Amino acid sequence: MTTYDTTENTFPGLVELDALRLTVIVDNEVDNMSSVPKDLGLTTQMQSLFKDHRRLDKDRSTVIPPPASGDHTHAHTHATGDDKDDASKHGMATVNFNFSDVCCGAHGLSVLLTGVKDGKEHRVLFDTGPHSAIFLENAKRLEIEFEKIEVIVLSHWHIDHSGGMLAAVERCEHARRQQQLHQSASPVVLDLHPDRPDERGACLTKPSPPGSAAPLEPIEYVAWGKEASFPALESAGGQVSLNAKAHTICENYFGVSGTIPRKTTYETGIPNHVRWSDATKSWSSEEEIMDERYLVARVRGKGLVVLTGCSHAGVINVCQDVQRAFGPEKENGENKIFFVVGGFHLAGASMETRIQETVKDMKAINPAYMAPGHCSGWRAKSALENAMNGQVVSLGVGSDFCITQQQH
Ligand SMILES: [Zn+2]
Ligand SMILES: [Zn+2]
Repeated sequence: MTTYDTTENTFPGLVELDALRLTVIVDNEVDNMSSVPKDLGLTTQMQSLFKDHRRLDKDRSTVIPPPASGDHTHAHTHATGDDKDDASKHGMATVNFNFSDVCCGAHGLSVLLTGVKDGKEHRVLFDTGPHSAIFLENAKRLEIEFEKIEVIVLSHWHIDHSGGMLAAVERCEHARRQQQLHQSASPVVLDLHPDRPDERGACLTKPSPPGSAAPLEPIEYVAWGKEASFPALESAGGQVSLNAKAHTICENYFGVSGTIPRKTTYETGIPNHVRWSDATKSWSSEEEIMDERYLVARVRGKGLVVLTGCSHAGVINVCQDVQRAFGPEKENGENKIFFVVGGFHLAGASMETRIQETVKDMKAINPAYMAPGHCSGWRAKSALENAMNGQVVSLGVGSDFCITQQQH
């Protein structure tokens, strides 16, 4: 049993960013239509595709515009050049929208963060989704500039967050080579918790008779896939940086926590989670996933933005730890939790019983906004929205939030 570092999380020197952009590369949900408060500066992927004529102006030459009245000369010409103007005068479409450019949802999480301070940017990738195919395809559709990603922060070793990591490292390395930055740019840093399991999974158990206090009897172990090894990540071009304690990265633009203290009475881990050991060739119960870490950034005039991968620690434990680490909210809003983003892990029969207490405590924390995504579940999302009307937004894949002091 690994002993986890229990040093309190602190983030001395975390800078106030002028702007923070969050680009959702992988999430469970696709939502390109729900309205979002202007404060969050959201552009959904479909909105940005509509505006992007490079992506729209394809194949429309096959469309035959209608003839102008009394003029049959255009009847069988194609909608190119001047004909396009004619087509739009007639209310015809002149460009195509390709739904194949829209990102797909998948069970997992990956968010690209771009912090800006005095015109200088730093980019960090938080998690990498469940597998390389979805991560790479969505990243391609979003035109992610991999050469600019400096650090990949893994929230915790679970394949729905780490499954795309090897591919992400390879793309970062490849993009650096293509941009001829290979000699000058540093390799992408992989900020990981040292307690890497060989593999994690779930244990299916026999239903126990009502009222029985007997331990649950396993009937089957379901493995989720091997985690990439440190040597494999390094040979793909990454520079492994193991961190069990809170620290800041990218010139103090972002803070990454150490162990998240488990304090609430009801956020007690997730039943049936198990860990495989190659050494002992055995599974062991692991309900708490203690290697999980959160990421935090602060934006001038707005407050703190918190990213939580799966909230195995409990989203209230995460938020309360952020509050403790930064201290009381100041009158100018400094130290206020502005936006909580990620998996709140409140889906599934055994977790849904925690929704009521979570909502009550979240109301006390009162972040300006929340984007409960990934494993949050629709029941928790609707309960939070009912209790805190207007403070919940969807974390649709392909969404691009741009948080700045200015109103949009
Ligand atoms: Zn997880
Ligand atoms: Zn997860």
